[in-house]
Amino acid sequence: MANVPVAVVTGSNKGIGFAIVRALCKQFPGDVYLTARDPGRGQEAVAKLQEEGLHPLFHQLDIDDLQSIRALHDFLKEKYGGLNVLVNNAGIAFKVRDTTPFAVQAEVTLKTNFFGTRNVCTELLPLVKPYGKVVNVSSMASSSALGGCSRELQEKFRSDTITEDELVELMTKFVEDTKKSVHEKEGWPNTAYGVSKIGVTVLSRIQARMLNEKRKGDHILLNACCPGWVRTDMAGPKATKSPDEGAETPVYLALLPSDADGPHGQFLSNKTVRTW
Ligand code: NAP
Repeated sequence: MANVPVAVVTGSNKGIGFAIVRALCKQFPGDVYLTARDPGRGQEAVAKLQEEGLHPLFHQLDIDDLQSIRALHDFLKEKYGGLNVLVNNAGIAFKVRDTTPFAVQAEVTLKTNFFGTRNVCTELLPLVKPYGKVVNVSSMASSSALGGCSRELQEKFRSDTITEDELVELMTKFVEDTKKSVHEKEGWPNTAYGVSKIGVTVLSRIQARMLNEKRKGDHILLNACCPGWVRTDMAGPKATKSPDEGAETPVYLALLPSDADGPHGQFLSNKTVRTW
């Protein structure tokens, strides 16, 4: 199977991830993996797409669980000798009315959205083949949260030299600061989801830079994007886009032609590069 192109979408049993798999099944010339932390929910989602005449494959993936990520790594390496498209879509958000203490919300949200996504990247990016595409689903909430940061934090998050270790330190500090109830004094905005997505956008900028430095000749394109405000369990029924519409920008980035030299290391919404 080493010559069969393969695409993987995290958190794709429902919502935008599910719609991304649907679109890739129609447009990507290879195997498309719908992944879910719960195999039952994953298989149900696969069956739904099969009813539409589509043929996604399934693999379990819980991005909070390093063993699960490594099992997917080993499977892809063994069966395909790598990976062509990776869409990091899995994410969580507490509802506005949720009364869970903010420090707990911060820890739980950062754990999945930032640290889980980062662990997937650490394990799977080395498998991405030349001309591969990586799409990290962030949010416009990352831009608005950036605007709510102190000037010092904004400078760090916009820096072209910030390292992954420094970013991890900052994300860890946010969680620690919420536990001590000093996060606002320390220059953080009052949004755990927003900060977690700052982490995803900045991580993408760093990873794109690393690809430029270490794998320049491989022509891999890696970007972050916002899907828009999408009617899913996360955003609710009042959102303006359908899941299929929300999938458009991530799918556009996942299917950039092999002769494209950009976008790379950018943050996009509505298929348009946004200023960070
Ligand atoms: P959703 O309907 O709640 O779906 C989230 C998906 O992520 C589900 O499949 C969920 O699985 C999965 N997931 C959560 N934690 C996971 C983990 N630890 N391991 C693996 N999968 C996990 O949300 P959505 O609206 O489609 O959101 C998809 C992405 O778009 C997220 O990154 C979100 O932050 C981003 N986004 C959404 C909007 C919007 O308006 N909807 C706007 C901006 C950005 P379970 O079913 O098992 O929970």
